[in-house]
Amino acid sequence: MAPSSDSSVLASSDSMPLVPEHIRRLVPYPPGKPLSELERELGITHAVKLASNENALGPSPRAVEAMQAALATVHRYPDGGAWFLRHALATHLDVAPERLLLGNGSNELIEHLIRAFGGPERGVLASECTFVVYALIAQAAGVPVTTVPTQDFHFDLEAMAAAWHPGIRLVFLCSPNNPTGTVIAPAALERFMGRISDETIVVLDEAYLEYCDPSERLDALRWVAERPRTVTLRTFSKAYGLAGVRVGYGVTSAELADYVNRVRQPFNVNTLAQVAAEAALADVAFLDEVFRVTRHGRQQVLDGLAHLGLRTIPSQANFVMFDLARDGRAVYDALLRLGVIVRPLANYGLPTWLRVNMGTLDENARFLAALRQVLA
Ligand SMILES: *Cc1c(COP(=O)(O)O)cnc(C)c1O
Repeated sequence: MAPSSDSSVLASSDSMPLVPEHIRRLVPYPPGKPLSELERELGITHAVKLASNENALGPSPRAVEAMQAALATVHRYPDGGAWFLRHALATHLDVAPERLLLGNGSNELIEHLIRAFGGPERGVLASECTFVVYALIAQAAGVPVTTVPTQDFHFDLEAMAAAWHPGIRLVFLCSPNNPTGTVIAPAALERFMGRISDETIVVLDEAYLEYCDPSERLDALRWVAERPRTVTLRTFSKAYGLAGVRVGYGVTSAELADYVNRVRQPFNVNTLAQVAAEAALADVAFLDEVFRVTRHGRQQVLDGLAHLGLRTIPSQANFVMFDLARDGRAVYDALLRLGVIVRPLANYGLPTWLRVNMGTLDENARFLAALRQVLA
């Protein structure tokens, strides 16, 4: 290469910013504060974490046993196709195995979907006041995001349909929604699907499905069966109690699953996650107990918050959000000092609200007592 062209390459790369503008503007996802971090900072033990919608009952004991049995095999790469988990899910859901997506948490599947189907001219549509990860991943990938305001904390599907245009390739809906706990009405979803193109991929994130009243669940699998460009996302992180091993799944058409499969890394779901998820899926008694304790706890927390005169939003998930009508961050900090971690919602545009997830009944009582003390 001629010296003159070398120096011109150098000159242009010198003036090039280190990262593109869409990366510079990214704000990292703020995870719930880890228990060990708070305990270290305060020099205490037995802090309570109710900040990340984790399962208060721990993992399914059958999942723990399965992981223990698999420990001696971790010198091998995982089964990249996750044959056993895939077939267990296919039987459980009564769908063909090739319609399943498996991810390192369903967060990874959100990333796969955006990577496979989004682009600078292939945008994402979502609601305000929903899981921030959709917009974060889209932004990191340079995919434009259109957001539509909620109506009294519910998705405004009429306004979302009006905001839809042919450049929207992916729509993210969540029911029960995080952080509101609200659900989408089946009739509203039906109207929405009728108003947008069948070519648009609609993602129905059902991370909290297992906590929902059966009568309030979206019939997402019916939509997947009838409308090929629909994806339902589910996870083992919440009701199944396996957030730490990272495994989630999706159901869609074989065509979409094939494209997603091209962008994933070959061993994205690790060996322990595969055996744990398969065992947890079969542990019906554990799931029933989680459902029972969570629903009981939700009523306990809703009653306690009402008693303190705080506004709440009816929730079908394992968390509720509540309005302090004053700076939520200050109350969050005061609760931390009492050893209770909840979630501030300022990054959702709700600076006076906090979100708390259901713990054990004792943990819920501790949260309510701490909040009463802070507000006194
Ligand atoms: C927790 C959560 C998930 C699941 O995350 P994982 O990556 O599976 O742990 C997905 N969507 C929403 C809305 C969530 O709150």
